[in-house]
Order: sequence, then structure tokens, then C-alpha cells
Amino acid sequence: QVRVRFAPSPTGLLHVGNARTALYNWLYARHHGGQFLLRIEDTDLDRSEVRHETQLMEDLRWMGLEWDEGPGVEGPHAPYRQSERLGIYREHTERLLAEGKAYRCFCTQEDLEAERARAVAEHRPQVYSGRCRALSAETSAQRAAAGEPFAVRLRIPDHPLRFHDLVRGEVEFPQETVSDPILVRSSGMPVYNYVVTVDDALMEITHVIRGDDHISNTPKQVAIYEAFGWPVPQFAHLSTILGSDRERLSKRHGATSIASFREMGILPEALTNYLALLGWGAEGGTRETFTMPELVEAFKLERVTASPAVFDFEKLHWMNRHYLKLAEPARVAELAWPYFAQAGWLAPHSESSEAAQTWFEKLLAIFVPSVDLLDQLPGKARFVFEFDPAQARANEENAALLNTESAQKVLAAFAAKVRAHTGTVTPELFKIWMNEVKAETGAKGKDLFHPVRILLTGAHSGPEFDKLIPLFEEGSGLDLPVRVLS
Ligand code: GLU
Repeated sequence: QVRVRFAPSPTGLLHVGNARTALYNWLYARHHGGQFLLRIEDTDLDRSEVRHETQLMEDLRWMGLEWDEGPGVEGPHAPYRQSERLGIYREHTERLLAEGKAYRCFCTQEDLEAERARAVAEHRPQVYSGRCRALSAETSAQRAAAGEPFAVRLRIPDHPLRFHDLVRGEVEFPQETVSDPILVRSSGMPVYNYVVTVDDALMEITHVIRGDDHISNTPKQVAIYEAFGWPVPQFAHLSTILGSDRERLSKRHGATSIASFREMGILPEALTNYLALLGWGAEGGTRETFTMPELVEAFKLERVTASPAVFDFEKLHWMNRHYLKLAEPARVAELAWPYFAQAGWLAPHSESSEAAQTWFEKLLAIFVPSVDLLDQLPGKARFVFEFDPAQARANEENAALLNTESAQKVLAAFAAKVRAHTGTVTPELFKIWMNEVKAETGAKGKDLFHPVRILLTGAHSGPEFDKLIPLFEEGSGLDLPVRVLS
């Protein structure tokens, strides 16, 4: 039974690196019919915030990464927040101390600094000397009882620490580079390496899939498993994500939080597809587009690459464009609506009529194919909502096109048809008119269409008339005669 976990610290927004870690864990669990756990690592009380935890869970759900156990779902290993598990860690520390697998370390900050300085001077690795290892159980207990502050350290075993990594193969750390790690600080707060191990063991995690920034922590964690006599899980450390300059991806490269991608109007299926390919590829292929079920089917840890992945914003945009085209129009309309409401062009979606929604879908059919991100739509569609006929005509380029004799004739003939008509102008009627204007004036092609287009849109190129004209239907609030006759 595969059991994996995503164990974020709620100290900020969820970014691509951790989101990919969460995705790979989820895919691995689903591929094997196993369980995906969410555990909140909030032992850093100063930096952990509930709002980050809430946002994080919202981001995961938005990406479709539902957890089988964790906050809000609970399960047999609750609680799933480390701040609520301190009693569990304390019990385990007692056990290690009683068994002599860990010891109290009374070294002060100054003691340790002096040791470090000596190691640096002698060009030795800066590892703790283990002075307090040798304290007898009685002395140790007496000093603790007398109120002397102490940290708890693990007695590192006397052999090299190695583990098998499913991405990198055998990883071994020479023993002399690993100090007796602190498990519990003198403040009483247990440290990451300790709590992560206790939790992974108690929660019966079989595979630890996480970022490679944790590789150097892993030998310490392996030693903790050994001390408790617990089976060591499999590890898979995912490569770093780089920016286009091959530096570690950061804010400098652009927005990389999941929340910001969502705000830009990236669809979750585009993001998950893109993130899946960031360090993984399906067997024998250069295939790029996968639905979530297809990813679940194809995902194998053996296909995860050890070399760093480069984050390519353009490719993500391309992916999003691909999924925008595939998405149900009604869904895209609902997602795109807030951008137009924000611009002040539409009432809130919840207050809009069905007719308005149908109209909006027609509008989107025109513009969605030309954008990568939903937040680019208002810019493309501005002329539909904000239009000043006088300004459109005054524009230098437009004025030059309109002030020819041929254009003037076309506009006069077209205006006459508009003036004589009441009610909606259908695309069919528009076609008839244009044929008549052509016959009456002798203008054709660009000479015929450009002047009319400028009047309706303010530009001489843009969407096809067949798609544009229906936007002026009755009740849309857009007035074709006003554009033509004013
Ligand atoms: N809380 C750690 C982090 O966010 C978890 C690392 C792990 O998966 O062990 O980096």
C-alpha cells in the first residue's frame, strides 16, 4: 500500500516548486491506488500563519489535488498539524533518552561557537564534537533536574549513512560529516528533521517525495529511523527548478505562486500538465498534453529526471492556450466574467441574466482564441465596451483611411441602410447591405470593408464580421447605429 505525503510549512504562498512536489506525490498515490496525505509543518510558530495554511489548501484543491488524510479530512493518524502533535514528539524523545539512543546536551551557544571556530581554524568539517555524549545517565539527569537548559541530540551510529534514492540512486554521506543532530532545542521545541521522521513513521509513509534541498537532511532522518528501529521509507528527491538564466527560480523571474497563476487566468489543467512535465516525461515519448487521468496512468517515478528543470513561462502560456480552446464555453465564460466585471463592463456574474451570459459566450468565442491568459481578454475586447466614435475617426491612421473619396461614398451608402432600418442587424442582413454598398459604390475588398470596420471597432483589422455583428444584438447595450451615425 503506497502512502505518500505533502508536508508544506505554512509560511508563505505555494510556489511552483512545492506545487510540483505535491502533484508528483498525488500522481504517485493515484497511480498506485494508494493514499495522499497532507501534513502541515507549522512548528516554526513565528513564521507559520493560518492564512497561509488556508490559501495553501485552497490552491491544492484548485489544482485538483484532494488529500485522503489531513486537515479538514482527518483520518487514523490525526492530528495532521505538527503544532498539535507536540505531546507525541515528547513521548518519543523520552523513549530515545531512556534507551540511550539520544542524550542531553548542555553545551551553551558559546561552547558550540568556540568549537566551530576551532574546526574552521583546523580545516575540519564543522561537526559537533559529541562532548555531552559521554555524560553518565546520573549526571545528565541531575543537571536536568537542577534546571540547567539542554538540547536533545541523537547518537549518530558508527557507520556511514546511506539511502537509496529513486531518482538519484545510492546516496552516501561520510560519517565524519554528520554531527549528532539536535532533535529538540533547549527551548523545548523539536526540530524539523526529528518531527518529520516521527510523523512519516507514525503515518506509515512508504515513499518520501520532496525537493532536493532536503537531501542533506536525509541521512539524519535515516539515523532517526534506525534509532527507533523503524523501517526506512523510500526516498525520491526532485531536482531544483531553474529560471531561464539557469539560476534557481525565484520572484526575479516573474510571478511563480499558484495564486498568481490563477489570477492571471491559467486553468488548473494547464498548470498541472505543465508542472507534470517539469522533470518528468512519459515513457518513450515527446508527448506534451495529458489530462489528469492520463497523467495518473502514465506517471512513474523512474521517469523523473535528476537534472534540474527549467521553468518556461512561454510554454506554460502555450499550454494554457491549448486548454482554453478545449474548455467548455460556459466554464470559460464563468471564469472570464470577473475580469470584465472588474473592468466595470459587466455586472457581477451572480446578478447577470441568462441572455447576458449567452451574449458573453459569443464575445469570448471571438477573443479567447487570441489570448494565452484570461486576464488578457479585457485588453483585446476593450473596443466592444468602451467606444468613442469621434475618437475612432480622429485617429490619424483611421482618418487617412476614411478621408478618401471611395471611403466617404461607402460610409454614406452604409449609413443610409442603417438609418432606414429598425431592430437588430443580423449577420445575414449585414451581408446583404455590404453587397448593395458594393454595387452602389463600386468599392470592393479592403476599400469596402475597412471604412465600415473602423466605424464599428475603431480599427481596420479585427474579428470577422460574422462573429462581430451578433454582438450588437438587441439588449446587448451596444448600439450599432450610434457607432455608424454619430
Ligand atoms: N516542511 C518541509 C518543507 O516544506 C517538508 C520537507 C519534507 O517533505 O520532508 O520543506
